[in-house]
Amino acid sequence: MSNITPARKTILVVDDSKAISYLLKGQIEQEMDVNVLLADSIKSAREKVCNYAGDIDLALLDLNLPDGPKGEIVDVISSEYGIPSIVLTGSMSNELREIVVKNDIVDYVIKRNASEIDYVVNLARRIVTNADFKVLVVDDKASFRVYLRQLLKIHQYHVLEAEGGAEALDILQQNPDIRLVITDYIMPDIDGLELIYQIRATRSRSELAIIAVTSASDGELNAKMLKAGANDILGKPFEVEEFYCRVTQNADTVEYIERIRESATRDQLTQLHNRYYLFEMGNKLFGSARRGHLQITTAMLDLDNFKQINDKYGHLVGDRVLKQVAAVLADNLRDTDLLVRFGGEEFCVVAVNMDGPMIVFERIREAIEEGVFQIDDTRVNVSLSIGICNVMKNTLEEMINCADIALYSAKTAGRNTVVLYSDEHDNTVSIESQLLEPAL
Ligand code: GH3
Ligand code: MG
Ligand code: MG
Repeated sequence: MSNITPARKTILVVDDSKAISYLLKGQIEQEMDVNVLLADSIKSAREKVCNYAGDIDLALLDLNLPDGPKGEIVDVISSEYGIPSIVLTGSMSNELREIVVKNDIVDYVIKRNASEIDYVVNLARRIVTNADFKVLVVDDKASFRVYLRQLLKIHQYHVLEAEGGAEALDILQQNPDIRLVITDYIMPDIDGLELIYQIRATRSRSELAIIAVTSASDGELNAKMLKAGANDILGKPFEVEEFYCRVTQNADTVEYIERIRESATRDQLTQLHNRYYLFEMGNKLFGSARRGHLQITTAMLDLDNFKQINDKYGHLVGDRVLKQVAAVLADNLRDTDLLVRFGGEEFCVVAVNMDGPMIVFERIREAIEEGVFQIDDTRVNVSLSIGICNVMKNTLEEMINCADIALYSAKTAGRNTVVLYSDEHDNTVSIESQLLEPAL
């Protein structure tokens, strides 16, 4: 499995108060893997931007600086250099709000207490990651779509547009990774209410948020929208601040639930998916592969005599070996192969149309046997027994059981070996295992 690491993002903090700059830098670095540059004046901010050749993803700007006490920094960073900016200010006058609104800034925050810092850091995290967050805007009026697109673009979202309900459903089908829909109510083909019903037939509130834009005064319609499955209502006309608050809150919620779901299906030690995920995703994979007459391969992999490794080097070393073994397995499989930690020192693979499974798993066995598992000063040698099932069965569970029968053969044949399951195998091995393991 290959991982392409995205370029590290850069955030510029411009504030003449060292205390605030360092507080922001500290909090940002704790939350995100980004570079944070500090500047304490317009002059030093210009130098930083020039040195970075326009590669700054976001700026946090104090409006009151020694060489620009009236928010002049906003003109330089946001308007001149086009860097998305969040403004920090001690107090907000109408005059300042004007500077902020005319310069298309991301948001302004009035510095009052520590919770404001959390707000800024969370917003900063959103802005530097929003390019991967897809939002679909649905409205028959082009001018309103353009307006919403502009607002969302200031927050760096990936925006798609549909001019009606039918087109929206099409786009959603082609882009299953859309996570927020903002829809108008009155549209000529499918209206907003019907669109929400149709979206909710397949996508839950927790995986896709919907904000319905309605006339603020129609309470009954708003209630209907919420009942149909809208997460939130935005009444027209609205202030820009309200729009951003609702969008950010809904984006945060969808991501938060996604993270919880992700942590429930991942193994903490190896970061591989777990057994729960195997059956959830594996069954989907199995069903669609069978319908498409594609070949499925399952494999069970179990480290040999791992108890002895723990006894000899300690459980913590054992843990780190497991982690490294998981990485070797992942490296030797394709991204599309399903690899999970099945339990303890056992792993399971489900693959569709795998070329030469014996060759693939023999290579994996060798990689583990020859791999150097270096844990501090200790070199640990381990080996792996593997059972493969390449015969199509009626259910995924059956195919995993067959791989397990082959694994059992690999163990009884002396370990550190790969065994391919065959139907004859089934009779002999299952009889053998019944005789050998009456208690299991
Ligand atoms: P075999 O070759 O027959 O598979 O022998 P084995 O010792 O690997 O198998 P057995 O099932 O007897 O023992 C499994 C061992 O794996 C015992 C257990 O402590 C260890 N193990 C399971 N999960 C973990 C873990 O998360 N961390 C560590 N360090 N060890 C683990
Ligand atoms: Mg074992
Ligand atoms: Mg075991």
